[in-house]
Amino acid sequence: MSTYVAVDIGGTHIRAAAYETNNISPLTHKRTRSHAKEPGTFDRLIKAIEAAWPEDRPVKAIGMASPGPLDPQTGVVLATPNIPEWKDFPVAQKLSEHFGVPAYLDNDANLGALGEWKFGAGRGHHHVLYLTISTGIGGGVIINDRLLHGYHGLAAELGHVIVLAGGPVCSCGFEGHLEALSAGPAIVRYVREQMEAGVKSELRSDGELNAFDVAEAAKRGDALAKSAYARAGEYLGIGVASFLHTFDPSIVIFGGGVSQSGPLLFEPFETSMRAHVFNSHYLENLVITTAALGDDAGLLGALALAQMEQSDQ
Ligand SMILES: [Zn+2]
Repeated sequence: MSTYVAVDIGGTHIRAAAYETNNISPLTHKRTRSHAKEPGTFDRLIKAIEAAWPEDRPVKAIGMASPGPLDPQTGVVLATPNIPEWKDFPVAQKLSEHFGVPAYLDNDANLGALGEWKFGAGRGHHHVLYLTISTGIGGGVIINDRLLHGYHGLAAELGHVIVLAGGPVCSCGFEGHLEALSAGPAIVRYVREQMEAGVKSELRSDGELNAFDVAEAAKRGDALAKSAYARAGEYLGIGVASFLHTFDPSIVIFGGGVSQSGPLLFEPFETSMRAHVFNSHYLENLVITTAALGDDAGLLGALALAQMEQSDQ
């Protein structure tokens, strides 16, 4: 039995927690509000870890989830839109020097996949495809019980595959990516465009509108809102069919807020996925499910990472 500290840098919070080997109930848990655009993110990170650090036992290693792109081999955050001051920032080395224990880094989507595989919906599976759908789309792939990293550590950017050549512009600036068609902002953007073109809806195009509002309107029977989810589901099906062809997983796990929308998204998704899979063998015994760990996926993925790096199963 060893003790680890896991940390997860999210959009608005830094969360840190201490765990014992394979025990998903934290010994200590600390949440720090983080205004990531302001300087001093690393100092806030240190404080969050210190607050979660158990006083009564030694810590073996730190595992950390961060938005990417980053290099998991070297522990360097290359650049991340949420933390402008972290450019080529060797965060794992700095944490290791500060705390005197090894520190390991991976991106939040990869660690979501690793957490679900080790502790959540993917337990017992050896080939896992994980997609998190919220304001963006992130992916993580596990093959033969190992995360797929690729040569540069940049593999499995599944939100940025092209599903519609010449399609809408993605947050990354390129066109027709899955994220630009199936993430929350893409659903809202489609609703706004259709209303501007004269399509009637109970939704109002002026003011704030988010994917949750669109889902609520769809559940009340609003035709435009339903069609927006149907379109997102259709492109998600096209993307996942290609992922089945590429990775041949035994389970597909959906995390993130948009994946809570239920049949609105998943009925058109499944119809589309089946229509685009070129051989039905991919679908035999394939499990399609939602994530089990909720907001803790990143933390528990960071725990799994630290345990695996220390060969502590
Ligand atoms: Zn993109």
